Amino acid sequence: MPHSISSSNVARAIAALPEGVVLKQSSVHDDTHRVSGGLVEKLDILYQAADEAYSSAQPFTVCKKGCTFCCTYIPISLFPAEVAYIQVKTGVASTPSEEVDFGSSCPFLSGEVCLIYAFRPYVCRRHLNFSDTSEHCQTSSPPTLTSIHFDEIWRTYLSLVANGEKSMDIRQAFSKRVEARDIAEKVKPCQ
Ligand code: SF4
Repeated sequence: MPHSISSSNVARAIAALPEGVVLKQSSVHDDTHRVSGGLVEKLDILYQAADEAYSSAQPFTVCKKGCTFCCTYIPISLFPAEVAYIQVKTGVASTPSEEVDFGSSCPFLSGEVCLIYAFRPYVCRRHLNFSDTSEHCQTSSPPTLTSIHFDEIWRTYLSLVANGEKSMDIRQAFSKRVEARDIAEKVKPCQ
């Protein structure tokens, strides 16, 4: 049975974006280049803009707190710069591996909690399910979901982190399960 993917929910979400969010996403490239500091500071700004944009769209999705489907069944791609960002922000060292076992959860997932929520990769911020039902979230073979691309955020993201680098799955970059005690004390899990 085909899944019902609703592009109308995407359209409604875009139409409802507050003006401030639209303006901020359109200036994110300049904002990241204006800040003094290195890539970590630039990613701070980019991630904040992404969070504001995607949290505005969230009411038009079936995504709910406590759902960990995306943290388990779909690719969680990130670039080396984001691996470095996680290491700097959380104190967790990368443990690279070639293997990735889709169906084993992200090493930073503890029960229903992301241990590094504020510092999670870009992909985790933009995965939203705009379907009419949570049917996708009950299968281990999810279809490609309709998504929203905030063009300027996406372009800025790629210009900051891609640079000809190859992406990997978070389960390859951090191949060992991480415990709360492994993470710098100041890092708060999602509440
Ligand atoms: S980093 Fe956090 S949000 Fe992203 S997949 Fe892992 S547990 Fe989920």
